Amino acid sequence: MELELLLVKMPFQQKYRPCTPNYGKLRRTRQNLGRAETEVALVLVVRLVCLIYGDKTSEQNTPDLGSHMCNDTNPASNEKRDDKIERRRSRKEDGQQAEFHKCAFKYHMNIVRDGRSSKIDICIKAFTSIFDVTENRVRRVRDALATTGLPPKNKQGQHNNRPHALSQEEKDLVIGHIQSFRGRASHYSRKRTRRIIAFGYPRKDTCSTCDGLKCKIEGGNTQLNELPPDSERAALLLRQKDGQKSTFELHQRKGEVFYDRKKAARMGAQRSDGMEAVCFDYQKNLPCPNITTQDVYYSRQLSFHSFNIHVLSSDKVFFYCYDETVGKKGSDDVCSMLFDCFSRLFSHDVKHISLFCDSCAGQNKNWTVLRFMYYLVHMAKRFDTITMTLPVRGHSYMECDRDMANVDQSSPAEVPDDWRKVLEAARVKPEPFNVINMTSEKF
Ligand SMILES: [Zn+2]
Repeated sequence: MELELLLVKMPFQQKYRPCTPNYGKLRRTRQNLGRAETEVALVLVVRLVCLIYGDKTSEQNTPDLGSHMCNDTNPASNEKRDDKIERRRSRKEDGQQAEFHKCAFKYHMNIVRDGRSSKIDICIKAFTSIFDVTENRVRRVRDALATTGLPPKNKQGQHNNRPHALSQEEKDLVIGHIQSFRGRASHYSRKRTRRIIAFGYPRKDTCSTCDGLKCKIEGGNTQLNELPPDSERAALLLRQKDGQKSTFELHQRKGEVFYDRKKAARMGAQRSDGMEAVCFDYQKNLPCPNITTQDVYYSRQLSFHSFNIHVLSSDKVFFYCYDETVGKKGSDDVCSMLFDCFSRLFSHDVKHISLFCDSCAGQNKNWTVLRFMYYLVHMAKRFDTITMTLPVRGHSYMECDRDMANVDQSSPAEVPDDWRKVLEAARVKPEPFNVINMTSEKF
């Protein structure tokens, strides 16, 4: 208590500052002497008095505060104090000197200053904070550099401690089991997937003819199992079943022919500049506005039509877009958009074209479209040949369907232009969809 009072009265003198660079802390400690609430503060006070007045008696009773409080102006006094006060710094037991740092590390970063990049030194705290790494990570790098001179190598997974690892025999069994499944190439995938097997939902858009024939064959099988094999009824059912099987196989082969021809046309178009293969189809009507407000559900919405022309050789896609106030979705409209595409967007070197579309009688499979083809070849002399391939009903999956699968149909859209933006942003590679605004003059 006597020391405390003594220091409060004592003016702070510049020449008695200790050698530590943390002057501010000491000054604040001294300013708070009147309060001296904590033991640490009191210890600092006592030690400060010792330094200033050289009071040996009080110094002996104070604990050591570390080397930063020593006074360089009085080395003799320091030596004497070192003898009496036990240092906290660790020393080797055999009396040898402690190991000093073998390496020193500097941390720096590049900054742009006055338009030029320059390297500045920073402390480790700033380094770890700026690059968001832990000090442990920096320490590991530092240790490796100090010992080997190289940064540490990533050894993730490079160990033999795998008690649960599968043996090669077990792996072969799993691979064999997966390969026993009958895989099917994904309809919407461009690449052939052989190793990846997914258990998806049942297909929603299966062919009604295929489904009907499958049901008949399965029903016949059930009836045959219940009947005696040599009965007249069983023989009749067997004949019916054979006929149904043949019809089913023929139907499936007809469906495959469409895809084979399309593939051949695509490859031909890729090889020759004079040939082109195109598939086209109307996409699903998109409603305007397409928003979540409840009133919209009960209102009649404006339909937004998009006619998709997919160029098979280059995977270019042209979306002809218009709303129902501009045009309809009939054969005349199909001819108008095909004419615009053939006359404006295709090179005049293209003289042979293969068209693939579904068998919709109102849009594609009608006399209007056939007469339009005749006009292009014989009257306008635009093409030398036009081949049009129409698939059997239910087997008309085309690249157009894949394009539409890329479009997020739940996107919010209030006006037709919003849908145009959605279409433009729907695909990135190999190139975005080309959206063409169809006006009433073009129909
Ligand atoms: Zn079918």
